[in-house]
Parts: sequence; C-alpha cells; structure tokens
Amino acid sequence: MTCGAAFIYSTKFLDYHFHSDHPFNQRRVLLSKDLLEKNKLLSKSDITEPRMATEDELALFHDKVFINAVKRAGTSDLSDDECMEYGIGTEDTPAFPNMHEASSYLVGGTLTAVDSVLQGKSEHALNLGGGLHHGFKRKASGFCVYNDGAIAINYIRQNYDLKVLYVDTDAHHGDGVQWAFYDDPNVCTLSIHETGRYLFPGSGHINERGIKEGHGYSFNLPIDAFTQDESFTQTYETALREIADFFQPDVILTQNGADAHVNDPLTHLCATMETFEQIPLLAHKIAHQYCNGRWIALGGGGYDMWRVVPRAWAQIWSVMKTGDIQSGDLPPDWQSEWQSKSPVTLPVTWHDEKQIIPNIPRKDDITEKNDKVLQSALKYTNNKLNEML
Ligand SMILES: [Zn+2]
Ligand SMILES: [Zn+2]
Repeated sequence: MTCGAAFIYSTKFLDYHFHSDHPFNQRRVLLSKDLLEKNKLLSKSDITEPRMATEDELALFHDKVFINAVKRAGTSDLSDDECMEYGIGTEDTPAFPNMHEASSYLVGGTLTAVDSVLQGKSEHALNLGGGLHHGFKRKASGFCVYNDGAIAINYIRQNYDLKVLYVDTDAHHGDGVQWAFYDDPNVCTLSIHETGRYLFPGSGHINERGIKEGHGYSFNLPIDAFTQDESFTQTYETALREIADFFQPDVILTQNGADAHVNDPLTHLCATMETFEQIPLLAHKIAHQYCNGRWIALGGGGYDMWRVVPRAWAQIWSVMKTGDIQSGDLPPDWQSEWQSKSPVTLPVTWHDEKQIIPNIPRKDDITEKNDKVLQSALKYTNNKLNEML
C-alpha cells in the first residue's frame, strides 16, 4: 500500500538547542532524515518546509504573558521570580538565544503537518521536530517550551471541527496535552508511559480519567519499570484498538517519543526496536480504519540519539510511505557519515540484536501488573458502561 505522506523539515528545527550537554538534542531529526534519504525512502519532493507559528496560533493554548516571557528569555535574563513562575531558566529547560523563534518553528511544523493532512494534500504527515508534550499554558517544563501538540489540537478543533484522538507513547506521561483537554469530550487522550512512581512528571495514574463533559476521555496506562517489548506492545495494541472503537476519532495525532528503549539513559523501560516498529504499524492501521487515513505523527523524547532515535523515527516515515517497516541492514553510507561524530558504535541493522535484551527476573510479575493496569484503564470503554458515566 502506498500512501501520500508529507515529511515536515527545516534546518531551523536545529535551533531549538539548550546547550551542548543537554540531553534533548534536535540533531536526532537530522540523523533520522539522513537515514531515510540514504535508504532511498525520502526524496526532496516528500519534504514540506514549515512556517513559523504566529503569536495568535501560540495563544490557542498559551497565555500571552508566558509567550512574552519566552520572547524576553531568548534575548535577556528573566528575574529569578519569573524563572520560577514560567519554568524557564531551570536546569531542565534553560533559556537559549532566539528561544521564541526556534520554539515557534517547531509549532509551525506541527501546524503545517495538520494542514497538509486536513486540506487533503497528504493522508499522513510527520513532524519529528514536534511532540513537546510537557509544555503548560503558562509554564515551560521537561525540555518543552511551547506545546505544539496541544496547540495543534486546538487548531484542528477551531478550523476543522474534527474529533481528535491523541496517542502518546513517550516513556513519560503526556501531561501537558492531557490537562489541556481534560474536560473536553471531543478530544480523547491516551498515554502509555512508565509509572510516575520514580519518573518525571509523576502524573498519569489510571484514575486520571477527565472531568465534567470530558470524563471518560482521558486514558492512562502507567506501565511498570523494566517492561519489555511483549508486554508494552500488547498493552498498547489492546488499548489503542478498544479506545479507537469507543471514541470513533476523525483524526489521529501521535506523539512518538523514543525513550522507552532499553538503551535510553533517562527512563527504566526495556523496549527494543520491536516496540518502535509496532507503534507506527498499528497507528497507521487505525488511521485508515477510522479516519480515512488522517494521521499526523510527531517526535518527542528519546535520549539515545545515535543508536535508537534515528531508526525508531525513520520507521514511522517508512510506515507512512510504504505501509510497512524496514528490516535487514541499514545503509552503510549512513554509518560512514556519522560514526566519527558518535561516541557509541552505531547499529548496522534496522532491528536490534538479541543481545541487547536484558534478562529481567521479574518479567512475569511485570506482565501481570501491566495486564491489571490495562483492564482497569479500559473499564469504561465498553459502550454500556459508558452510558452510565
Ligand atoms: Zn497509509
Ligand atoms: Zn519522554
């Protein structure tokens, strides 16, 4: 199956750069793009240049005072009080030059992706520069300044009036997007993430189900630390199928953080590439089954930027473009291009080698716990029960 897909990219994405030791590094997007080009999956005609989001567009979600603080942070120092209030200048989210412009380009990329799909220029669109799911209305958080996903959903609601299913497979809870639509029955959020017991941001409990009209439209699957492929994909697949059937979305927006991988330095999940192959394959299926193919995918976290993120993100585009994942060897000229710049040995195959899978003695326990989380989270997707809500 061949679908029309748009790859949103600008070198301006690389200007979203805190400092050289910061774990969040947008060179991941360039590495993914280069891998696709060298694998002959991406050509110039696939690429759409993004625009910068306007201030009115940012204000679809953010407070004007916050936008102004971001603008000032990029050119001069904020006071200590302002840093506290707006979450900028912290260790996680330090200020950097042109912070507002760089952050607005990531948002513009996501809005360009939305327009491409909803104006019928392509069925799918991918903005690997986006997915900054921790951004709040008036506060930056967890490496995220402007929350492009939340802005895009408001933009879809306002300009296209469609029901949006947001699916977040980043290892961290998609808190910023969840709270933005917590009372909205036209936006359903699903986040599968490592339990917040030991991991930022700490939220994402099963019982966060939404409020008022939006009650029953927020789903959380907090899975156990050390979860491996089988349990991750089983939990994700069952949940996404049931929730899509329950909600009947018009469009799907996915956040594709690649930090659930066993090599990721910031989280404790133990997935391999297998999980990052299954994630886009099912999202694609569901988009065609329920949404006439309307699927917009974003990047997100992912801190093993050399070994994990490029392959994981390239597979999303592969699925969008060809309907399937890649397997076998990576293009050797990709390794020769980047190996000298990488502190670790680059992978040579699309799939992970078996040796990287750790032996987790608690595996059965973890699977059982995750199954219980799944059952409890999906308790209300059954239509009869839903009428009682
Ligand atoms: Zn398709
Ligand atoms: Zn993350």
